[in-house]
Amino acid sequence: MDLGIKGKRALVCASSKGLGLGCARALAEAGVDLVMNARGAEALEASAQAIRDDFGVEVTTVACDVTTPEGQEKVISAAQGVDILVTNAGGPPPGKWTDWDREDFIKALDANMLTPIAFIKALVPGMMERGWGRVVNITSQSVKAPIPVLGLSNSARAGLTGYVAGTARQVAGKGVNINNLQPGIHATDRADSLDKGVSEAQSISLDEARAQRAATIPAGRYGTAEEFGATCAFLCSQHAGFIVGQNILLDGGAINATM
Ligand code: NAP
Repeated sequence: MDLGIKGKRALVCASSKGLGLGCARALAEAGVDLVMNARGAEALEASAQAIRDDFGVEVTTVACDVTTPEGQEKVISAAQGVDILVTNAGGPPPGKWTDWDREDFIKALDANMLTPIAFIKALVPGMMERGWGRVVNITSQSVKAPIPVLGLSNSARAGLTGYVAGTARQVAGKGVNINNLQPGIHATDRADSLDKGVSEAQSISLDEARAQRAATIPAGRYGTAEEFGATCAFLCSQHAGFIVGQNILLDGGAINATM
C-alpha cells in the first residue's frame, strides 16, 4: 500500500534502537526524511546510516537526552517544519509502590508525560498552519491494564493519554491527527531488561523468564519492532486522517478485554 507520505519529514525521538527505530525505518521505507535522536551518538549514527543506505532518505541525527530542556531545545531546533512527530523516551524503572518518592515521580512525569507534551506544543502549531500533520506517541499497554511493578510508567503514561484525548480533538480540524500506540511486550533491549528482572526475582534462567512472559500472550510470542513500526507508519499515512485521539494496542492479545 502506498502510504502517500513520500517526501514528508518526521522527527522520531529515542530512535537508535527498539520501537523508535522500528518507527523510523518504516517511515523511511515510505519515503519520509528523518530527524533521529538518542543519547548514545555511536548507535544513533549507525542506525541512521543503515536507514540512508537502505531507503535513500535524508537523515539528520541529534544525540542528546530528550527528557532535558537542553535536549528538547536541540531536537526541536533541528526538527522545525516537520510534518510527523513520533514521541518516545526510555521507560521508568520497575519497583514497588512503596519505593517511589516525589523525585521518582517527577522524573517519570518529565520523561513520559511532559517531554511528549513539550514536543507537541512546539511542533503541532506549524503542522496546523500548514494544514497537515501526524503525531504518534509511544505509550504502553499499562495505560489500559496496569503493570504493578511499573507504577511510575502507569502513572505518567495515563497522564499523557488524558492530555492527548483532549488535545487531539482540538487540532483535528486543522488536519493534524494525534494518536497513541500502546505496546505490549516487544523484543527489544527494554524487554530484555524486564526479563532480567523477572529472572533475578524468581531465581530462574533468562530463557525461563522469557518463556513465562511469552506464555501470558495469546499470540505466544513477543511483538517485533518491525510490526510496531509498520503500524506507526500507517497512523502517519494519508489513510489515517479519520483516526483521532485513539489508543492502539499492540499486545498479541495479552489484555483480556472485549474493547
Ligand atoms: P529500548 O529498546 O531500550 O530503546 C530505547 C531507545 O530510546 C534507544 O534508542 C535509546 O538510546 C533511546 N533513549 C532512551 N532514553 C532516551 C532519552 N532520555 N533521550 C533520548 N533517547 C533515549 O526501548 P523500547 O523497548 O524500544 O521502548 C520504547 C518505549 O516503549 C519505552 O518508553 C518503553 O518503556 C515503552 N514500552 C516498551 C515495551 C516493550 O516491551 N519493549 C512495552 C511497553 C512499553 P540511548 O540509550 O542511546 O539514549
